[in-house]
Amino acid sequence: MDIFTKVVEPAKTPSPANAVAQPIFQTSVYAFDDIGEVDQILAGTRPGYSYTRGGNPNFDALAQFVASIEETEDAVVTASGTASLLAAMLALAPKPCAILLSREIYGGTVGICRRILAPMGYSTSWVDTHEVEAFKASLNGEPCLLVVESISNPLGRVSPLDEVIQAAHDGGACVLVDNTFATPYHAQPVKWGADLVVHSLTKFIGGHSDLILGVVAGDTTRISAVREIVDVGGFTPDPFAAWLALRGARTLALRMQRSSQNALELASALQTIAGVRRVYYPGLPSHPDYLVAQKLLVRGYGAIVSLSLEGGYGAVQSMIRSLKHVRFVPSLGDVSTTLSHPMVASHRELSPEEKVSVGIDGSVVRISVGIESVQDLIEDFRQALSS
Ligand SMILES: *Cc1c(COP(=O)(O)O)cnc(C)c1O
Repeated sequence: MDIFTKVVEPAKTPSPANAVAQPIFQTSVYAFDDIGEVDQILAGTRPGYSYTRGGNPNFDALAQFVASIEETEDAVVTASGTASLLAAMLALAPKPCAILLSREIYGGTVGICRRILAPMGYSTSWVDTHEVEAFKASLNGEPCLLVVESISNPLGRVSPLDEVIQAAHDGGACVLVDNTFATPYHAQPVKWGADLVVHSLTKFIGGHSDLILGVVAGDTTRISAVREIVDVGGFTPDPFAAWLALRGARTLALRMQRSSQNALELASALQTIAGVRRVYYPGLPSHPDYLVAQKLLVRGYGAIVSLSLEGGYGAVQSMIRSLKHVRFVPSLGDVSTTLSHPMVASHRELSPEEKVSVGIDGSVVRISVGIESVQDLIEDFRQALSS
């Protein structure tokens, strides 16, 4: 063989059948001896992989992991949490209709509605999911879909989702729950009746700020509708990202246990520090949803603590500059504690009036609590706020 042939010759590695960790199937496609075999795999009548946009062993391993911790029949991974939201929304509402968005929701979800779905003929309106009776009153416009978060971004609102989902179903709407903040460690929204659940795996499930990925979990029928959108629309992730996410996810329970405990202690301590106007954490009795969170969430209240500072935007800026350990990072869910500014980052999609109406202004900071020693964290905030 000529070198021009040799350099493209595939490696002849034996199948690593006893590998403890799953190998990374970093391949876009598979080779076959038989046309019929490919035909059957593509038709779905024979198990197997042919082209990675339609499936890959690393995607399946990660999806099965999420389905097992969410206790759903099935799941499908996508290139980002945002891709999962869009795929899930299109699967639940395939034709233009009226979508209801819970008032406090990730800005990217609002962006999907405004920039992609609205031009296609969908309408979107805000709803209050905290008061079940008020929520029921907003269902008379024959909505098709409600999108809500189990713990809201960024102020940690927890709606009585068991009752809200029932009411939405009675009013003819499907329900999509973004469970990114709670993770299955604290909540499994299908138990409250959610039709589909999405996660940004980029955050707590991946847990290490080293990948972008999403997942949709639910029953077999709904997930096959999502899977079709993912395959046909090309929302597919990369095998290596899926492999990394599964590796990170193996410590999810341990990380969430520690981060949630730290978050509760940090939230309590922050309430006593001068310069802090308000602390938003659903595990604090001062939070408006404390009782709902106690009833619905398990094992604690999650790792996100938000604050509002007396001195507004300027005070936040100087606190960020003075923090020694905690970094300003427009994301969340890392093993180390980070903080973000929702007005500028996660919720920039909202208009100034909308931000004010949900309580997001320049003074609000969102802390994603990690697994460090909480004393070190409290000390870092204490020194940064006193300087
Ligand atoms: C980050 C985030 C998303 C979007 O996920 P990406 O992986 O960044 O696309 C969706 N929902 C919530 C609650 C998030 O925090």
